[in-house]
Amino acid sequence: MLVLETQHVRMNQHAIDKAQALQCLVNILVEDQLVTPEYIDGLNNREQQGATYLGQGIAIPHGTPESRQFIQQTGVRLAHFPEGVLWDGENKIYLAVVIAAKSDEHLQVLQILTRALISDLEDQVKNAQSPEQIIALLQAQPASLALHENLIATQVPAQDIDDLIWQASQLLKQQHMVQCGFLSGLNLKQMIHLGDGIWSISSNQHVLNPAVSIVKTETPLDFEQQTLSTLVCIASNDQLDLSRLHQLMDILFDTTQSQSIQSEQDEHQLAQLLGAEVIPDWPSQQIILANAHGLHARPATQLVNLTKQFSGDIQVAVDDGAYVSAKSLTKLLALGCRRGQRLTFIAQPETDAVDALVQIIDAVRQGLGEEVEQFDEQSLSTAQTTDNTPLISFESDAQLENTGIAASTGLAFGPAHVVKPREFDYVREGQSFKAENERLEIALHQVKNHLHQFIAHTSADEIKQIFMAHLEMLDDPDLMQSVQRGLKQGLSAPAAWHDHIDAAATAQAALSDRLLAERAADLRDIGERVLAVLCDAPEITEPEQPYILIMHDVGPSDVARLNKDRVAGILTAVGGASAHSAIVARALAIPAVVGAGDAVLNIDPHATVLINGDTGEFVVAPEQAQIEDAIATRERQRELRAQAQQHCLEPAITQDQHQLEIAANIGKVSATAQAVTDGAEAIGLLRTELVFMSHNSAPDEQAQEADYRVVLDALAGRPLVVRTLDVGGDKPLPYLPIAEEENPFLGLRGIRLTLRKPTLLRQQLLALLKAADDRPLRIMFPMIGRVEEWRAAKAILDEFRTEYPCNNLQVGIMIEVPSAALLAPILAQEVDFFSIGTNDLTQYTMAIDRGHPLLSAEADGLHPSVLLLIDQTVRAAHEHGKWVGICGELAADPKAVPVLMGLGVDELSMSSTSIPLVKAQIRGLNYTECQRIAQHALKCESASAVRALVEC
Ligand code: PEP
Ligand code: MG
Repeated sequence: MLVLETQHVRMNQHAIDKAQALQCLVNILVEDQLVTPEYIDGLNNREQQGATYLGQGIAIPHGTPESRQFIQQTGVRLAHFPEGVLWDGENKIYLAVVIAAKSDEHLQVLQILTRALISDLEDQVKNAQSPEQIIALLQAQPASLALHENLIATQVPAQDIDDLIWQASQLLKQQHMVQCGFLSGLNLKQMIHLGDGIWSISSNQHVLNPAVSIVKTETPLDFEQQTLSTLVCIASNDQLDLSRLHQLMDILFDTTQSQSIQSEQDEHQLAQLLGAEVIPDWPSQQIILANAHGLHARPATQLVNLTKQFSGDIQVAVDDGAYVSAKSLTKLLALGCRRGQRLTFIAQPETDAVDALVQIIDAVRQGLGEEVEQFDEQSLSTAQTTDNTPLISFESDAQLENTGIAASTGLAFGPAHVVKPREFDYVREGQSFKAENERLEIALHQVKNHLHQFIAHTSADEIKQIFMAHLEMLDDPDLMQSVQRGLKQGLSAPAAWHDHIDAAATAQAALSDRLLAERAADLRDIGERVLAVLCDAPEITEPEQPYILIMHDVGPSDVARLNKDRVAGILTAVGGASAHSAIVARALAIPAVVGAGDAVLNIDPHATVLINGDTGEFVVAPEQAQIEDAIATRERQRELRAQAQQHCLEPAITQDQHQLEIAANIGKVSATAQAVTDGAEAIGLLRTELVFMSHNSAPDEQAQEADYRVVLDALAGRPLVVRTLDVGGDKPLPYLPIAEEENPFLGLRGIRLTLRKPTLLRQQLLALLKAADDRPLRIMFPMIGRVEEWRAAKAILDEFRTEYPCNNLQVGIMIEVPSAALLAPILAQEVDFFSIGTNDLTQYTMAIDRGHPLLSAEADGLHPSVLLLIDQTVRAAHEHGKWVGICGELAADPKAVPVLMGLGVDELSMSSTSIPLVKAQIRGLNYTECQRIAQHALKCESASAVRALVEC
């Protein structure tokens, strides 16, 4: 972070012209070992592109990107030239703020300066006598109190005074006037009654810019035995010029005026009555800013040059902020508009400015002199929110959208390694059965040797298991027999091998359930390995340095096979955030963006690709500055993670002392120990179908008991929530065949299946009870949609409870089907707990397949419809003294954590790698504020509106 410090100010510098001044500045930088002398060329070249005069007698000379190689250390120095130096042929500067920035840190300095530039500073800068004076001038806060139409809300439905205060503080927060923590500084005891139902409250904590927000209730509230219908919320600070506040108070205290204020419901009219800045009712046009580094000095200058050509007034605002003149460079810079934010231009009616709007929008679209990567016009509505929803493309040859679905957190970059199905050349006709069979056996032998070597060199269990499964497939006698049949018909070894594998894989994939399709991918994978040997095809060489793996789809088996040291990140054409492959990527902590469209397969194989697993964005051939930014961000994330990791064993308690239980989701019994090390206070979801899948045939009661004991032993007294077998849908078990179904997700899944195979359920429940030994065991049934299902499952468990009593047992259900959430008030009377599976609950509520390549990003668990079901479930449970957990992927989503906590859930269960960060996040939250956010989220109209409520 660049800061302006007094020891970096050089007073009394002299230069006869700009060239001498620039040399003087480089000398200072060289002296302080920030740059080498060659940096002077960078400064000169930059000035030739456009003078760095900022306004108010200040310039900000800095080098070109090419001259960054001469920077030894990022830093900033200030030089005071009391006689002034002519800088742009027109203006003299008295202060030069010279910047040596390896990436874009200079934008921070610019931000500080532009705040100062709003005031009239030139004379003070010129006459400054000391470094302290200069720093104080530059860091001056805007003194005037902001009050504009966007800080006023009428007809606000508020339940009570707390709610109203929250809304007033939200308005200030949304307009970037205050930061998190402002709300906690508002003290009800300091409310002042201004008369006629108008009250005021103020705080000077966490204030960025002094401002006032005004909220009027839909219906008056009772407060302190009086009426409250209008709340004036003042965010002040020490430097506040009080005159504007006094003006406002005069209006509010004036009885005649206050009555009109009371009756006025229109925000625009009310703003006028209060003397606030109003949004003029002028013709307007909007555009999303696409410049990579926002509206910084160069593009802003271009914009000013353009707008100044018109005599009519032109104003501009960012998102819903206040309007400023589009002809003032300093005001434009102070807007701090970033890429992706919406600029609204308005033009004074009946002047030439109205016609100028089209030209202005066009110029902004063209990048205002910079090369920009265009935003699609359609992104106008989505870019205002933090929603990651990609644009929908129905075309098969889709364009690269540069956005997919954020599937696994983190930033990664490296050369693209595009893995497409390989094609091989071979003759179909064989020489003789004997010769071709021999060829096949040699090839199989070679591939098996490779697999053995892989197994020997891999420490990760999941990778070993995948390769062992591949070995078994190769040893399958049926496979050999089928291929040999082809050889006997006169086919060559590669032709017979390919035909058989292709037919087998196609048949498997055609069963249309996802895990089966992934097993088909395994078959194709070994098929390809053998074929490559048979055809003497060269091995695919992986890039030497960590790369971005680009594939059509990455199944769990592919992910498990990845070498984490070589695969920096994953980018796929299809897939969704809650598909099981994404879950595995998260468990291995590899950043991933999925569902980015088929165009990613056409990315140039050696191009550098930068992916952001938190936003779903990716960039092909990023600029050096973007990579440097990514490295810096990743470094910050690493630091945050390292800090969070240090405290991961401590509980998750909010600032106002509300504690949440944080548990882990696991699918392998051996993962328990790591989960505990990562800070899990319980296992909140043991996906037993995954435990089953690690066995080649159905594990019997003893084998299961042994598995469950491993988990309970490693938990050492912490609770274990076990879900009974949840197969069907996208999770088939090879040894539990299910007849083909039209809609597997709506078919025999979870409890519907096991109730029809009660022996399987009995065996599992028995194994669990036997393993428990009075340790805290919680058993839950998946996919309950009807009370009858719950009762039937519970009755099976009850059969054994006398023979195998378990003193620390709770029995509950997963809430994954909307009908169960709606029936929660009834179910809550009978169960011990609910665990909400938001992956399925979202899929079934919104009728979107959770793995759908195009639609799954729209199935956001923060959709108000899902939140309403969660709210109903939590309220019903708490009414009957039962607890509620969340075990879907939503539990670890930073935007969802405050909302879920605010809705009152008692436990969050997630992939154990997410635990330290979620705990750290909760420690910074305020429960009361989360409750307010949650109540507002329930009233939102979309998931993106909910996401916009939450700051993090
Ligand atoms: C869920 O549906 O949210 C859940 C946790 O279960 P699974 O992802 O295993 O279907
Ligand atoms: Mg589920």
